[in-house]
Amino acid sequence: FWHQDGWTLFNIVQAYMHRITMEYDYQEVQTPQILDRSLWERSGHWDKFQENIFTTSVENREYAIKPMNCPGHIQIFNQGLKSYRDLPIRISEFGVVHRNEPSGTLHGLFRVRRFTQDDAHIFCTPDQLIDEFNAVIDIVLYVFSALGFEDFTTQISLRDPDNKDKYIGSDENWEKAENAIMIAAKEKGLKTVVEYGEAAFYGPKLDFMVKDVLGRNWQLGTIQVDYTLPERFDLTYKGSDNQLHRPVMIHRAPFGSMERFIAILIEHTGGNFPLWLTPEQVILLPI
Ligand code: ZN
Repeated sequence: FWHQDGWTLFNIVQAYMHRITMEYDYQEVQTPQILDRSLWERSGHWDKFQENIFTTSVENREYAIKPMNCPGHIQIFNQGLKSYRDLPIRISEFGVVHRNEPSGTLHGLFRVRRFTQDDAHIFCTPDQLIDEFNAVIDIVLYVFSALGFEDFTTQISLRDPDNKDKYIGSDENWEKAENAIMIAAKEKGLKTVVEYGEAAFYGPKLDFMVKDVLGRNWQLGTIQVDYTLPERFDLTYKGSDNQLHRPVMIHRAPFGSMERFIAILIEHTGGNFPLWLTPEQVILLPI
């Protein structure tokens, strides 16, 4: 439940993020909350993420209440034939998602079952991948510094090599995606640690952890490289050679979840926000 002051803060943070994504040439969209089961089967969520999905059914058809925005954005990309001249296509959404987290893991605003991701998906050619990935790192670093989070670390999150069943996609695609992340992190001069078993089920990630004023680490932004969903949805674009090629996808969310980000912001500032984020900026006292 967002009360008035919290909702005011939420809207200021969202408007700020919206402005930045427009500057970086994204198109903002909105996709449905409830989508047919077949879409989630195709994306692999139904198989690998099912315990987190709320479902509903009507007229004997099963639906998922979306736990992620990726399949929705893929539907938008898939409207009409794309040319290499159209790419990169950057689709963003303040996507409300529901995830059935175990009740024992719920934790204030930090972990809730319904939250808003500052989400986006970039569809690009393999040649554009590193530049696009670097541009996303730039956004994340810019946002962190603007909001006063100077102390952060980065983590490359890879598959658990002993438990490959938890993931989808070929070894070759995983390797390509992992290499792209390592190259981009190196080009940006990020100091990274590598953590096994922390990848998303469809690809490896670069995660950003910030330290709050009390020295606690929180995971915020995440950037992921994905060769697998474009394959599962048979995404294509027409190249300069007039042949069909497969685009690469980047998933990115600088804050991760707006709710979690605001929780961290409250902890970090002790509620003493910079003026532009303050819900109640001026009080007049009649004397
Ligand atoms: Zn995604």
